Amino acid sequence: MGEPALSLHGRSGIEPPVTTRFAPSPTGLLHLGHAFSAFLAWRRARDAGGRFLLRLEDIDVTRCRPEYAAAILEDLAWLGLDWDGPVRVQTEHLPDYAAVLDALNRRGMLYPCFCTRADIAREIAAATDAPHAPDGGSVYPGTCRALPPAERAARIAAGEPHALRLNLEKALAAAGRALCYEEDGTGSVPCRPERFGDAVLARKDIRASYHLCVTHDDAQGGVTLVTRGEDLRAATDLHVLLQALMDWPTPCYAHHRLLSDARGRRLAKRASAPPIRLLRQQGWSPEAVRDLATVSDYC
Ligand code: GLU
Repeated sequence: MGEPALSLHGRSGIEPPVTTRFAPSPTGLLHLGHAFSAFLAWRRARDAGGRFLLRLEDIDVTRCRPEYAAAILEDLAWLGLDWDGPVRVQTEHLPDYAAVLDALNRRGMLYPCFCTRADIAREIAAATDAPHAPDGGSVYPGTCRALPPAERAARIAAGEPHALRLNLEKALAAAGRALCYEEDGTGSVPCRPERFGDAVLARKDIRASYHLCVTHDDAQGGVTLVTRGEDLRAATDLHVLLQALMDWPTPCYAHHRLLSDARGRRLAKRASAPPIRLLRQQGWSPEAVRDLATVSDYC
């Protein structure tokens, strides 16, 4: 791919420059909550004379649209945020993610899962104490974990759609140590990736997943500080496990609060967040939007 090999920065004794990133999914217009997140990451990098990377997390091909991607870049530029190097577009790097999957597969860390959502829901309904993952999903009940190799091979050969799941038990054993990360300003946080169960690392429709791509790309970009919303705090536990498995450095994390509107509703795309576009049309200046995005509560 002509990309530099993943560096083991942070382990050589030479401090890497502060590198932050903003990684929106182009499933809608940039809204105020995003602008807040982007601005925090940008400011941390610029205050330290470091690098700010921009990445489009577009592997959910059913929901992402090129016109949203273009609009996000334009709105960020309008806000006065500049980024270093080219924008990384995840769907342009699928072979990189496939290589990571292959490496994990060779080590026996993955297994094919043929279950549909309905299959999983049925299994869970039948169980008395099915746990929930921190992201609100159900913990996979493990239906396909112990399928005989011959059955797996036959179903794959027959073209049956399948995801690839992480065998959590094997992954934890391979990591072989207690996992933790540094939360900016707080200190060391212990991780409990087991709360996710056997997470999907490759979706059925694309040989990639959010968890896989985000950890790969943060390592590939030499990101030293991940600033993102606290809604992703639990996912960090899983990301730290993947970093340990792949021998990638664990960056420092700064999970920031989520902006809410005057009624206390979270400013998210699906809720009532004003798109930056709209504020632009209403005559707001970039400075005013940046101020609005950094005050504690909108309205
Ligand atoms: N693409 C994710 C989102 O738009 C952000 C992921 C991250 O920052 O790690 O919510």
